[in-house]
Amino acid sequence: MSKMAVRVPFVDLNFQHQPIQNQLEQAINRVLNQGDFILGKAVADFEAAFAAASGAEYGVGVASGTDAIALGLQACNIGVGDEVILPANTFVATLIGVLRVGAQPILVDCDPDTALIDLEAAAKVVTSQTKAIIPVHLYGQMVSPKQLLDFAATHKLLIFEDAAQAHLAERDGYRAGSVGIAAAFSFYPSKNLGAFGDGGMLVTKDPDIAQKMVRLRNYGAAQKYVHVEPGTNSRLDTLQAAVLLAKLPYLSQWNCDRLNIAQQYDTELAPLASAGIIPMQNQSSRGHVYHLYVIKIDDICSLERQQIQDKLIAAGIQTGIHYPIPCHLQPAFTYLGYQQGDFPQAEKLAKQILSLPMYPGLSSSQIKEVVAEITSIICSEQQQLLYI
Ligand SMILES: *Cc1c(COP(=O)(O)O)cnc(C)c1O
Repeated sequence: MSKMAVRVPFVDLNFQHQPIQNQLEQAINRVLNQGDFILGKAVADFEAAFAAASGAEYGVGVASGTDAIALGLQACNIGVGDEVILPANTFVATLIGVLRVGAQPILVDCDPDTALIDLEAAAKVVTSQTKAIIPVHLYGQMVSPKQLLDFAATHKLLIFEDAAQAHLAERDGYRAGSVGIAAAFSFYPSKNLGAFGDGGMLVTKDPDIAQKMVRLRNYGAAQKYVHVEPGTNSRLDTLQAAVLLAKLPYLSQWNCDRLNIAQQYDTELAPLASAGIIPMQNQSSRGHVYHLYVIKIDDICSLERQQIQDKLIAAGIQTGIHYPIPCHLQPAFTYLGYQQGDFPQAEKLAKQILSLPMYPGLSSSQIKEVVAEITSIICSEQQQLLYI
């Protein structure tokens, strides 16, 4: 089959940027004119605006989401001798953050319907050394704040949210970033709020954690040339902050567009449930911000995920897999001692999940095209099976 031109891309950021190109250029030009490239005005302005939007008091901009996790854990005094619980099916950056502070990562399995961390499984691995849990608000859906707060209170643990995929997500009346002691966000370009490069932020209600984070991102300096701890250089660029500040007013609308797209996918895909095409569950109603729209290709489906993905790309439809290898099976982390079979749900999901095109601006007719293509792929397979 010859490869078609892309009909439906996986992500297209032009829909976000073109309508506000003037504002983006003005924001960038202001920084050029002011020349305050490092920790300039736009950084402080964006930190305040984004923290407030997330239901937190303080925001500290850093160079990436990964640094927001690693430096954030350090700012929360989590480190050597502490165990930290996190899901096996997250982007590796969550795990890397824990390892960077010298804490012991304790991985747990996930709920197969939502792909969110399984708190019952988490309860079984709590020890006297456990200091914190990192709920990952995966795909844009928060881990239930009510259940998390109960869990953390029962076991006397800190909650450190990985909110890299969940800007402005809501559940149980909480915003992502307002549940735990602190939360890490990423502004990687394709995240719900994305910069023109890398960026991240720690948000918190705790002034001491915010202060420590301000030092850690700036060589551990309490004031210029007085270094009170071994920090690093991890600042959010003023240029990136200016871009993010210009985009922030549109974030709610973009999230709303994502939700509407997801609801159309849900409706159009419903007839395929009996053929084994199952969308991940939304348990947070309108609070899900759908960073990704993920379906499962179930055991009962007549085709493997790989076959469906190949046929879609041949038809000009791009998809993704988030993520194909769970953290415990990554070559870099075999030394942690986990094995195949340790987290059956995460392992099964890694084989079955498929992320469909999702971005503000994806049109209703494109959604129909995607679903029609999946339907035709599955029906033609079922037809062929009838003739064998
Ligand atoms: C994107 C992401 C990160 C890392 O963010 P970067 O800005 O790419 O360093 C961490 N955790 C999750 C769940 C992510 O999706």
